[in-house]
Amino acid sequence: MIPRQKETPATTTGVPNVSATRPNSLKPNRPTQFDRVLAVLLANDEVCGSELYAMFIPRFGALLHRLRRQGYVWSKRPCDRHDHQGTSWLYKLEALPYESTRPGIGDA
Ligand SMILES: [Zn+2]
Repeated sequence: MIPRQKETPATTTGVPNVSATRPNSLKPNRPTQFDRVLAVLLANDEVCGSELYAMFIPRFGALLHRLRRQGYVWSKRPCDRHDHQGTSWLYKLEALPYESTRPGIGDA
């Protein structure tokens, strides 16, 4: 069996520029990768990192941290759904950002 080639980061050569990170307002019909990560977390109990790769969101780690900074609470645990060779994680959205009605109170 031929070992799978490691995925290389997308470059500008040979890769269609489908994931331009423009503000949403410029492309209202094209969700950003951030939106897609959030949507898939909202729609599923748990999401495996490999499923995010399959959605062509290789930078989901950075997006998950952005979610956390925005107040979303998520957890992760090693994936037991797939036969991964290394450790892959299942991500679970636990809570939505706390919407303070009194800004300034409860700020961490
Ligand atoms: Zn998995």
